[in-house]
Amino acid sequence: MKIPKSIKRFCPSCRKHTEVKVVQLKTGTKRGSLKRGSIQRAKKRGLGVGFGNKGRWGSKPTKPKMTGAKTSKKTYLKYTCKVCNKSTMTTAGIRTKKLEIV
Ligand SMILES: [Zn+2]
Repeated sequence: MKIPKSIKRFCPSCRKHTEVKVVQLKTGTKRGSLKRGSIQRAKKRGLGVGFGNKGRWGSKPTKPKMTGAKTSKKTYLKYTCKVCNKSTMTTAGIRTKKLEIV
């Protein structure tokens, strides 16, 4: 799917159609179960050492590979207004295999 760099779209703060800049958003990484402190710190304190991960530290068992039917992923776009410089996001992601911003 190809999307132009700038398109005309409705801006809620300008309350009219304006030129907007299109940027693809990147999905962030999930935080681990160990929220406070770190694995290294726990090891230094003598915790989390031994056999297995003791339910909290270190590595997790391998996740089974996804064997779903879908080959595409949801992509999210950010639209930045060129007039007021405010941005809006796509509420529902677009399903595409590959997204190109031309
Ligand atoms: Zn605007």
